[in-house]
Amino acid sequence: MLLRNKIQTWYQNNRRDLPWRNTSNPYFIWISEIILQQTRVKQGINYYYRFVNLFPSIETLAQSDEETVLKAWQGLGYYSRARNLRQGAIQIMTQYKGRVPGTYRELLNVKGIGEYTAAAIASIAFNEAVAAIDGNVYRVLARFLGIKEAINSSKGKNIFRKIANEQLDKKQPGTYNQALMELGALICTPKKPDCTNCPLSNQCIAYKNQLLNYLPVKISPKTKRTRYFYYFICADKNQIVFQKRTQNDIWRSMFDFPCIETQTELTIENLSKTDEWQLFFLAKKVELSKISPKITHILSHQRIVIQFIHVPLRNFKALHNKVYLLTQKKEAQQLPHPKPIENYIEKENLLKE
Ligand code: SF4
Repeated sequence: MLLRNKIQTWYQNNRRDLPWRNTSNPYFIWISEIILQQTRVKQGINYYYRFVNLFPSIETLAQSDEETVLKAWQGLGYYSRARNLRQGAIQIMTQYKGRVPGTYRELLNVKGIGEYTAAAIASIAFNEAVAAIDGNVYRVLARFLGIKEAINSSKGKNIFRKIANEQLDKKQPGTYNQALMELGALICTPKKPDCTNCPLSNQCIAYKNQLLNYLPVKISPKTKRTRYFYYFICADKNQIVFQKRTQNDIWRSMFDFPCIETQTELTIENLSKTDEWQLFFLAKKVELSKISPKITHILSHQRIVIQFIHVPLRNFKALHNKVYLLTQKKEAQQLPHPKPIENYIEKENLLKE
């Protein structure tokens, strides 16, 4: 069963007019693909415009500093993607004389460009016959062809890659790839697919056999690790302390607050017995002006339980450590912050003098 003819006609009539669809510039397509791996189209459009306005070319992205790139990315999460975009741009400037490499194989050599992104750029910008397989494509193929192999197992991935390339329209690979992704995004949605308006319904195995809720098959991920972050907001009227995250960990190079991390939940009293507390305050008893309720922030492999503890600036004694930055509140607005930090700053108006 081939779906290419039906899907192309449907796409011509139903495609959304999106800014990255009106260009064949591989740099813009690259940016859009990385953003869309993080968020939905509606929100992604604003990030796309912000990014291409700030960095209108590979050269400008390569010359930018990491903090500016992270700030433009702020809110999208998974910040290594933003760092890799910049690193990839630097690599293209030095290794490929500023031109995005024009083949799938070469694109895979660029920092941060994986199989899906390489296939999307190669097919859309360079018309190379290679299938781009994102979550939408997995879902449409699994349902239409009734494939029961798990989409996140290595065996399943190989099977889907082979089938996706057999199905590919080799004459118009870029349009075909976008059509399949668009069908998955608009019609063959994860929940309540709109089968009655689907151009594939006549031949769709999942539709005919009532397997919609069963396909695609996915193996449940391992349980997430839980971490406890106790953040200290040390501020006075005009100044506030941030911490630059330098470890090879989540949110690297972004700015959060001085933090005590623990593997288990602690009371304030037990927290005050830790070595970090001692380093921060040189005393067990500290004035605590406010303690927030705990919030949970979910990442792909981790669950972060966060509590914010407000302390007058004069109590914080660890500024000699270069990781901590005492900054004017106004200037701190320019720093890139992880999402839960940014949310708390906004909610509590922390950077208002
Ligand atoms: S008929 Fe339904 S399940 Fe099958 S491809 Fe179309 S939307 Fe998806």
